[in-house]
Amino acid sequence: MKHITDPLLRLLEPYQYAAVIDGQWGDICKGKLVDLLASVYGHAIVRRTGSNNAGHTVQRGSTRIALSIIPCGILYDADGKLNIIDEFVGFNPMQALREIAMLHSKGFSCNNLVISHNAHLLMPQHIVMDMVRESSPGVYKVGTTGRGVGPCFTDSPARTRLRVNDMLVPDVLRAKLKENLRDKVKVLSFADPEIVRKVMRMDRLENGIFLRDNYEARTDGYGPFDFDAIMERYIEYGKLLKGFIRNTRLLLEQLIRDGKQIIFEGAQGTLLSVHYGTYPNVTSTDPSRHGLLYGLHLDPAKLLPLLLFKFPYMTRVGEGPFPTELGGEDSARWCGTKTRDDELELYPNPDINSSDPREQGAAIRRKGVEFGTVTGRPRRTGWFDLELARYAARVHSGDKRCVAVTAKSDVLDECEVIKIGTEHIYNGPDYPLGDTIIRKGSRLQQAIVDDDFVFRHCTPVYREFEGWNTKTSGVTTFEDTPRQFRELIGYIEREANLDVRICSVGPDSNQTIIRG
Ligand code: IMP
Repeated sequence: MKHITDPLLRLLEPYQYAAVIDGQWGDICKGKLVDLLASVYGHAIVRRTGSNNAGHTVQRGSTRIALSIIPCGILYDADGKLNIIDEFVGFNPMQALREIAMLHSKGFSCNNLVISHNAHLLMPQHIVMDMVRESSPGVYKVGTTGRGVGPCFTDSPARTRLRVNDMLVPDVLRAKLKENLRDKVKVLSFADPEIVRKVMRMDRLENGIFLRDNYEARTDGYGPFDFDAIMERYIEYGKLLKGFIRNTRLLLEQLIRDGKQIIFEGAQGTLLSVHYGTYPNVTSTDPSRHGLLYGLHLDPAKLLPLLLFKFPYMTRVGEGPFPTELGGEDSARWCGTKTRDDELELYPNPDINSSDPREQGAAIRRKGVEFGTVTGRPRRTGWFDLELARYAARVHSGDKRCVAVTAKSDVLDECEVIKIGTEHIYNGPDYPLGDTIIRKGSRLQQAIVDDDFVFRHCTPVYREFEGWNTKTSGVTTFEDTPRQFRELIGYIEREANLDVRICSVGPDSNQTIIRG
């Protein structure tokens, strides 16, 4: 591993902070990278965005550890590293307890796990609101993960938010829960009771323990929710988690003041940001660099932001346009409704060089294991979109060169022809944008002006490149990678103003190339 750890240390050591941020729509090996960084660097690893909608996977030999709320640095708990779940995370206590138990069962301790007293408390009503909305006919569907994330974060500007510390103070929990539930129940009164009941019996809602019978007849304002059952359960969670809960704002201020190295672990991706992403098909927090570092007074000169790109293919989960998608809308529909088993039946042995784009997309999905860690959904696959990469790089670094990481290029090791989407051409009706008009046939430099009304009408221009057709997962230095691979990296560096310093070519940490 010295061929990795030495250059990695040289890259990280000048900085007090490293931030791991996804430059696309999520699912780009952030778990692997955080795990690798934490093996040589960092006093603390901090999650500050998202919730248990994120799925971060770390491979330890043949063991695969999937985490969704606990930072991936937890595997270094025994070395005394702090793992912090900070205040802007949507915190589901049941999920955290499940992950702690899973880690213990695999021999990992959680002695230095810290949970912010101020983190957004994710509760059953959030999951119900999320799932009922997504399951109701005639409603705009985002294709959420169904983990309650949108409704949980919406509570904050609505001023009805509960926080983690409330679990430790039953009177406060009772008062806030009352207010919060009554708000939700007003909205739920418009929903089909059968859908509500079905949703509330799901495993992630503990199989109906929060559901009251004959709820339509009740007049206390709690609708389908069993108020006492929620209270009891959350007070119990509070007792179990009490030892982890702290004021993380003070803790982070202290770590920063003391000059401690910190890894910031991003969740989701820049294109899923509620501010910078492909709105409205986004998550409800800001997973960009800005959201990840919000409110911290870090010296920018001490920060190494690492922007991750799956390359030279990419993926998207859930609804929304994806111009370079292999198989286009057919594939999108398929991934939105089918499972991995359905796909095994349709394509028992898909060919990565197939002339049928849907089959080629399925082959990439199979080889790249592109099925959701949290939901198990097949991920939509398509070619790398340079215009989106340029945009993400600008969001992160402005006009400065953006330090980048590429991942999963080994998935295309056998691909004979690689395509890169280089530009977006608008093909929709005239669309006024301020004092200009976006017209058919024009090149769009910021297609994500509007996901449904502009981006959906974009056609990519492709450039084709010769594939490298050799195994890259055993290669240890950039110089030893195939010429075609190096040329392609050079091309995106020039075109998107990137400085690619790390290339991940397999799930194991030793399958990583660090450019010295
Ligand atoms: P939510 O975050 O569950 O509300 O889902 C909103 C959108 O973000 C949906 O399109 C999800 O598929 C997507 N999303 C949320 N978390 C992730 C993730 O970790 N990876 C990829 N997509 C995600």
